Amino acid sequence: MSASLAGRNALVTGSVQGIGLAIATALARQGAAIGLHGLADAAQIAAASAELIAAGAPAVRFFEADLRDETAVDAMMDQALDWRVDILVNNAGIQRTAALDGLPVETWKAILDVNLTAAFLTMRRALPAMGERGFGRVVNIASVHGLVASVEKAPYVASKFGLVGLSRVAALEYAAKGSAATGGVTVNCICPGWTETAIIEPQVAARAALFGGDRVAGIADLLKEKQPSRRTSDPAEIGALAAWLCARQAHNITGTAIPVDGGWTAQ
Ligand code: NAD
Repeated sequence: MSASLAGRNALVTGSVQGIGLAIATALARQGAAIGLHGLADAAQIAAASAELIAAGAPAVRFFEADLRDETAVDAMMDQALDWRVDILVNNAGIQRTAALDGLPVETWKAILDVNLTAAFLTMRRALPAMGERGFGRVVNIASVHGLVASVEKAPYVASKFGLVGLSRVAALEYAAKGSAATGGVTVNCICPGWTETAIIEPQVAARAALFGGDRVAGIADLLKEKQPSRRTSDPAEIGALAAWLCARQAHNITGTAIPVDGGWTAQ
């Protein structure tokens, strides 16, 4: 599948680090130009850009927007649509854990804004042009928590279930656009289980504290609760799946929510 995405532009939200950077890297390896995005300082943006160029991106352009701000998201999409968005990856996300009865409403709103509303705002702008061109890919990074629940994650679970539902509606509305030859317009979710990035660190640290600060023991204890493989995922593995969904050959894979969870949701 070498350089199968040459000539494509991919906007990946939250791509300055973690799963987003791994997805952008996988798309860059296939020859896509990358729209980089996320909350980061100049040094982190420069480092991510250099990594993507080294991976094979013909160009990298940084797009700025705090995803909690609807006006900022719209302004970002104005610029991104001028550039052209063939592939949209809604990856940016936040997580806070708290029991339902102790959950501040600001936390609820922030998580829903970043994890769900921002995806609606980017998709409603990007999809019409994808439909006109007969090719488009939306890959939304949901979570195993878009398919099953866990305690103390009400806003996160609600946002990710919402993202799966939103993606299915969009998949249906755009299913008939394009052709097998042009690649069609598809909308899918990837639903990771435990994946080694910054977002899981507070939960890892809390669990490691029960084992005298032993991080490896903390991760093992978290995994044994719900992830039968007892292996975390590497962000690059999520990137490889995202790149595969973006290939022309994946034209008939739409409306799915694909778990990468070591069997978590098989139970
Ligand atoms: P991360 O914390 O490393 O990355 C989150 C990204 O989102 C960062 O680039 C950050 O800049 C961006 N972001 C956060 N708030 C933002 C805002 N207000 N405006 C703009 N950008 C913002 O974590 P990650 O694990 O790489 O997370 C990526 C996605 O994967 C998230 O949607 C997360 O819910 C999902 N996910 C992660 C795991 C896991 O175990 N790591 C599991 C399931 C799903």
